[in-house]
Amino acid sequence: MRRTIGSFLLLTALCLYSPAGFAKKPDKKPDIDAGLEIIRKQTIEAHLDFLASDALEGREAGKRGGRVAAEYIRAELKELGIKPFSDTYFQSFEAYSPAHEKQVDFQVNRDSIVKYKQLPAYRKLSLQNVTGYIEGERKDEYIVIGAHYDHLGVDDLLVGDQIYNGADDNAASVAALLQVARAFAANRGKPSRSIIFAFWDGEEVNYLGSEYFVENFGNTATIKAYINLDMISRDGLMPILYPEFIIPEATAENTATGNQFHLLYTEPLTKAGERVQQDIRNYQLNIEPKPAVIASQSRGSDYLAFSLRGIPILWFFTGLHPDYHTPGDETDRIDWDKLIHITKATYLSLKQLANEK
Ligand SMILES: [Zn+2]
Repeated sequence: MRRTIGSFLLLTALCLYSPAGFAKKPDKKPDIDAGLEIIRKQTIEAHLDFLASDALEGREAGKRGGRVAAEYIRAELKELGIKPFSDTYFQSFEAYSPAHEKQVDFQVNRDSIVKYKQLPAYRKLSLQNVTGYIEGERKDEYIVIGAHYDHLGVDDLLVGDQIYNGADDNAASVAALLQVARAFAANRGKPSRSIIFAFWDGEEVNYLGSEYFVENFGNTATIKAYINLDMISRDGLMPILYPEFIIPEATAENTATGNQFHLLYTEPLTKAGERVQQDIRNYQLNIEPKPAVIASQSRGSDYLAFSLRGIPILWFFTGLHPDYHTPGDETDRIDWDKLIHITKATYLSLKQLANEK
């Protein structure tokens, strides 16, 4: 609350002290898109505040808080008039792991499940992805856009704050994706390709939700691109993703600060990456991309299930920070301006990919 009032006072003070005519005029007027007007701080903040609140107990996969988050996303999609991708909004599934003390290896693929179920003891997690769907002119060509909604839950051995709220990881992306869906729902006419809005469960366990979705999708050649949102609202470091996940020393080169973010894509989406940069200029969004091509075997987030099957991916990411996977990943540390402008850029890139000839 204090932050909101503080920002308001600062804004008022700036308005009072800036004579009209003093601001530098842009050379060219920004392009206009009705969907962009729908993406507002107020709504993103409301979603994020709820999803990252202590009441959701860190949204752990398979636990009460995770299920409440899933219900919340379903209710919001329904409210927006967005249909589910299949018969229901929930894609329910189970993940299994051997019961050895130190070996926790949850899997969703059929072969592993058959193997684990033959063991004298095994673990079972009941999970659910949430999906929304907008049908395109070319019904059987898809763009999937996804963000995981699960996080790390509660650790009652921690002294002090025991809740992993996961505001940046990944409540912010869920709030952003709900806003992108809202902006799309307001568009008149069908996109050329069908769009699937996916809210993944079990990412923090072993990318379970996205893996289950892709494994059971059918013909993955019909998925023309996957856009991933994971950690999009702070400043941070770009890890090395391939051949291993390594956290390097921070340098100006590999860190996104101020209004910068990491714009990552596999090689086939190089053109799409360039268009994102063009959009940012044309619509005068207050963000600066640090573009990079990543290998399709790169580990790091839910895109892996897609990229390993040859589906091109695009990932909006602001990087790792000292609060990453700690109880310090709280809502009051979110960079709202950055989050909103990345949400807008995401909406524009989805629109481009969904309407590509
Ligand atoms: Zn994450």
